[in-house]
Formats: sequence, structure tokens, C-alpha cells
Amino acid sequence: MDHLTRSLLNTYTAQPLDRSAHGRKNPDWLAAQLAHPAAEYLVLDGHSVVTSERTLLVLTQAQFQALDVSATPMLLGLKKTDGTPVFSVNITEPASVLTTFPNIESPSLRTITRQIDPEVASMYSYATLLNHWHITTRFCTRCGTALEIKEGGSMQQCTNSACGHIEFPRINPAVIMRVTKGNKILLARQASWPEFKYSVLAGFVEVGETLEHAVEREVMEEVNIPVENINYHSSQPWPFPNSFMLGYTAEASSDAFELEQDDIEHALWLTAEELKTNMVEGTVLPPPDLSISYSLINDWFHAETGMTLNEFKSSLPQ
Ligand SMILES: [Zn+2]
Repeated sequence: MDHLTRSLLNTYTAQPLDRSAHGRKNPDWLAAQLAHPAAEYLVLDGHSVVTSERTLLVLTQAQFQALDVSATPMLLGLKKTDGTPVFSVNITEPASVLTTFPNIESPSLRTITRQIDPEVASMYSYATLLNHWHITTRFCTRCGTALEIKEGGSMQQCTNSACGHIEFPRINPAVIMRVTKGNKILLARQASWPEFKYSVLAGFVEVGETLEHAVEREVMEEVNIPVENINYHSSQPWPFPNSFMLGYTAEASSDAFELEQDDIEHALWLTAEELKTNMVEGTVLPPPDLSISYSLINDWFHAETGMTLNEFKSSLPQ
């Protein structure tokens, strides 16, 4: 399996849109997309998505034009299937603006991801990441002047003509790694997590280091174990609020660990059979399949047992 195929098994990776990088540089082309009669507008409310009658609210061109909102629509891209332009629009207090739509709510994308199509979930993940950047980046980081949205929202430029600094969307890269030794996997939990929830180790990449050094450093900082055979696994955009997860695998050169930081409350080595026993007893709950941590643990679990974590979970009495 190549890395693209493996990444596409992670949630929020099945992107149905072409970002139209060349087209969006042309103001006439952009204006034509904004006027397109079939254009669609995904409605966001800050870091949340907007639903009407518990269905994601996507406005038609006519519905969007009828709204009294000043929000600038952001061009996400064109549908790969038929070229329909898809925009996102941020509407705060949507229930007071979208008065013609019944039962407006603003749930987190995380809570509804499993109920929607994977491509739709990926499109909303992209939209919420972009929206986060626009909400949090409104002034030039160089001179403090207001920024102007350019290229349909994929960049912003400082309006001070003496400056003209350009800002691009920012994401925070984080490494997340499955550490194994022989037939055992290292799982850990943070004190702030729900009881019995365990996952693999993770941490943000720091300035001036390689991804592989970040893996090495984080494992050392968190459990004081040297690792080797560090290999890339897959990646995942993570819109809560603006991370980019880079999955790795690594082998521990020792199984003796020492918790180094306050944020890791407990860690343990488990064989697949021991993990099963703990899952049956409810004493270790692996992460849900939204996050790349599930894929990292699941690949190992599948290789060891011939079944996926979800298959094993669903075989347990409820
Ligand atoms: Zn500036």
C-alpha cells in the first residue's frame, strides 16, 4: 500500500474539490464563480458547522443572495465531478440570520462526522480549517494594518501599500507515533482525557527540527524511551482547530519507560491479546476511528489478530 492510499483511509482526507489554484488568481474568473447560478455555500458558525433540521445547511446561489449578510464567501474550489463552485460563508448567530430555515443549530464537525459522507466531511474539514485562519488572522503580522482577502480566500494581503505583506493559511504540524517493541504496543493517556481512554503518543513539531527528530524527541520527553526505525505512515488534516497530523511508526530500543511530563498520566505496553482483554473489561478504550491514532493502532492490531479494532469492538456485548 502506498502512502497516498494509506492516508486516504484516514478521516477528512477524501477531498471532492479541485482548489483551482490558477483560476482563483484571475479576478474575472473568480467573479464568474461567485455569479454561477449553481454555486453552493457551506454555512459555518466560527469553528462549528451549521445544520437545519439536523442536516448540513448548504445554500443555493439564490438563497445566499437573499441573505442580509456582509460575510465574504470563501471559494473552497470546484467539484471534481461537474465543476460546481463551492464556497464557505461564516455566519455568526446563524439562527437570527437564517430565519427562513427551520431548527438552525451549530454542532461541531467532530460530533456529526460519522453521520455524513466521507467526502462531505473532508470538504467541511477544509472549510473549517480555512475559516479558523480567517477568524484568527485579521491583521498584518508585520505592521498591524488590516488584511484584505485575495484569491477567493486562499491568501490575505496587508492593505498598507508601503507594506503589502502576504499571509497564507497557517496549520500546526504535529507528529503522532505508534511505538512498538516486539509484539507489544505502547499506549498512554493524559490526565485530562475521559477515563480509560488511551492512544499513541503525539506532539507538535518544533521550529528547526525534522519530523523524525520530533518523533524521537517527543517519545523521549514523554516516556524517556529511545526509538529507532522511524518510518512515515500517513497524514491527516485535523480541523480542531488547525493541526496537521503526520503519522509515524517507531521501534523502542527498550521497554522500560519513565513518565517525564505531567501531561502523560499513565502508559503501558500491551500485546494485541492483552489489548483485547482490556477492551473486554473496559479498562483500555482505544481512540475512535475519526483520528489517525485509530489507523496507527488499527494497522498493528489487524496485523496481529487478522481483524480490525472496529470489528473487535462490534463483537463485544454492548
Ligand atoms: Zn503590513
